[in-house]
Amino acid sequence: MGDIKLTEFGAAETVPGSKLLLKTGQKDYLIDVGKNYKDKEENLPFEAKGIEHLILTHGHADHMGELLKLRKEGFKGKIFSTHETAEITKLQLKQDVSSVFFYNRAIKGKRYQHGPDKGKFIPFKKAEYSKEDIESSMALFESDNKEPGIPYEKQITISDEAKIMFYEAGHIPGSAQILFEISSEGRSLKLLTACDLGRTDYKILGHPRADTPIVKFPRTGFKENIDYIVVESTYGDKVHNSLEDSIKILEEAAKDAAKNSSKLIIPTFSIMRTHMLWNFLFRLNQEGRLPDMTFYSSSPTADYVSKIILGHIENLDEKALQEFANNNYNPFYFDKLVHHKKLEDTKEALKENKPMGIIAASGMCEMGRIVPILERTIQDPKNIILLTGYASPRTRAYNLINKEKQIRFDGKLVELKADVRKMGGLSGHADKEEIIAHLKSIHDPEKGEQFKGVFIKHGEKEACHKLRERIIEAGYPPETVHVMKKNQEYVL
Ligand SMILES: [Zn+2]
Repeated sequence: MGDIKLTEFGAAETVPGSKLLLKTGQKDYLIDVGKNYKDKEENLPFEAKGIEHLILTHGHADHMGELLKLRKEGFKGKIFSTHETAEITKLQLKQDVSSVFFYNRAIKGKRYQHGPDKGKFIPFKKAEYSKEDIESSMALFESDNKEPGIPYEKQITISDEAKIMFYEAGHIPGSAQILFEISSEGRSLKLLTACDLGRTDYKILGHPRADTPIVKFPRTGFKENIDYIVVESTYGDKVHNSLEDSIKILEEAAKDAAKNSSKLIIPTFSIMRTHMLWNFLFRLNQEGRLPDMTFYSSSPTADYVSKIILGHIENLDEKALQEFANNNYNPFYFDKLVHHKKLEDTKEALKENKPMGIIAASGMCEMGRIVPILERTIQDPKNIILLTGYASPRTRAYNLINKEKQIRFDGKLVELKADVRKMGGLSGHADKEEIIAHLKSIHDPEKGEQFKGVFIKHGEKEACHKLRERIIEAGYPPETVHVMKKNQEYVL
């Protein structure tokens, strides 16, 4: 009988760089090919030519960012993902390639460092890939009609020994849990990947709260008898603040900006986070909780992602379907939300002496339209900068949240006098208790059900090990619960 083995080459006891290899006696399948921002690899840690197929869980860079490298190193198989993931992947690759050209031109190859290495200039990376590389990689996506990608909950035979099915993961549009059914050399097993996994259905947790808008909750209630599960652990040692608290912080910031006739600046990510914010504003407005002010969204990428989301409206959650039933009054288009196609329009709006909100990317304030917007607004003590999540060290967002006196904008220092606030609780990742609820929804030890193996990855070391303890406490036998070590082969 042939062994079936699982190896994580990147996101083991750390978050970025997901590259999970599933090896049967006959073939190798790669699940995600993510970028690792922490320690950049020159080459992929496995033979790209030997990979039969690539299967993508979703379109975040830490899950698909090394796709062009995989292709360049000789990968010739097919790529399987949902429709939305294929489209978001294409968008990410395009941005990645064009930003290198843009930055090299704009800042002459040198990039200023924020945070601990403040003041150092490091060379910006050279352009490695072209538009042709993107086109040839996108041509590898399997499609069930004219567009790349395949629908949720449609079983696809990917080889003579393997079938896959995508189930909703509730993390970002297109994100999927993947169920593998392998029959190889007399063995057969079912493996589910739940990474990245979104927030759990609060009805399951038994304490209903505000829900994450747009995406459905992760699929639970699998009928198949799942043997093994791979689960993420980004928040494996934490419990999120409630979404209501976050929405209240947004409401308060808007009311303060209206009262002081100042500007509320919201740096955020263009995939999903921006759409969540629009949604919160829409709901606040409907409830009469939003002051009389205009919110300008200055993010063509977010507008493009809106088209991807609405292009697959059948995959939205029930509440979103109701909200989007009206083309002219919905979370993406309503009277108090104005979309700016051009940055010049936003710069003009900023000159007006009236309260307003401005939403722009990127969340880390390192690139994108938010940079010139912050440069024009942070020196006014009446203005409010509202950060919407984690700020990683060495970024401008980190310096803002730590209230440094001066913030650097290519070549000049600007005094930070604006009020910097933080809105937590918006994470698209399940927290510790939500992960447990998800596992129990599949196999509940209290009912005598068990997995043959639970594999924990995609979390910092402490989060992974704390989650393991919590899973064991929930009744899963210690010998079946593993924190994945980088490059280690686990026999299923
Ligand atoms: Zn993700």
